Amino acid sequence: MDWFSLRSNDGADALTTDEIKDFRFDGAPLPLMDLQRGIRKPAVLEAALSFRTVYRPEGADRPYEDAVGVDGLIRYKYRGTDPDHPDNRALRVAMNRRLPLIWFFGVGTARYLPTYPVFIIKEEPNELQFVVDAVSRGALGADSALEETVKRYITVETRRRLHQPIFRATVIRAYNTRCAVCALGHAQLLDAAHIIPDRDERGIAAVRNGLALCKIHHAALDSHILGVRPDYVVEIRDDLLHEVDGPMLRYGLQERHGERLMALPTARSERPDRALLEVAYGEFRAAG
Ligand SMILES: [Zn+2]
Repeated sequence: MDWFSLRSNDGADALTTDEIKDFRFDGAPLPLMDLQRGIRKPAVLEAALSFRTVYRPEGADRPYEDAVGVDGLIRYKYRGTDPDHPDNRALRVAMNRRLPLIWFFGVGTARYLPTYPVFIIKEEPNELQFVVDAVSRGALGADSALEETVKRYITVETRRRLHQPIFRATVIRAYNTRCAVCALGHAQLLDAAHIIPDRDERGIAAVRNGLALCKIHHAALDSHILGVRPDYVVEIRDDLLHEVDGPMLRYGLQERHGERLMALPTARSERPDRALLEVAYGEFRAAG
């Protein structure tokens, strides 16, 4: 974890597979990632050391199989369909012993964002998957030898980072790479915004707490310049409606007032949750 923190700007930046290959333990090279398989288990260990989610370009036909559940936690699919495959067993050992793992999330060709420590907190055998979180319930109790070395890496930031890449990919895909407010269709200018911020405990990283928004509309939502009613109608803060200024104010904000969202997910279960919108809209009204 120290090694990664030095090289990845405390886990904020992605690394290339070549950079990841440089890791040495006691002077000997020790691969941290398995480039052929998803799950890395060094022969000298019984538990897995890392697992990997491969890069899929935005708009790819096949969405992430490793997805976020309704509880906001990441799912990691078994290798194949045999729960007793050695790779699946290695993840199960890490789960049972509450050992920390590294999750490599592919963000481009041969580029991975390492998130650490993460823990396998439970298994969903019917769905052939494990559940991943940034904290392991009980792993860091007084009897845990891991406490000193691992605890300092477990921060709110790690938890946020764990959810961010899949949340983004899932939300952008659900909105067909369109801003919900203005329908702008350029991935580079789009964010996956939270309806309830992720610092709030209700701010789960599920699609129904998300909106694909362009940079301007994301900032406008977060600063309460723009609100979304539970019936999916956009409102702009009152004082901005009377201002006279350039095209961004006029077309981008004022003319969106009273209009319905322009892009919504096809699947009903992926559309913005009306109860969450109600809470956020209440805050927008109170701020205005
Ligand atoms: Zn927009």
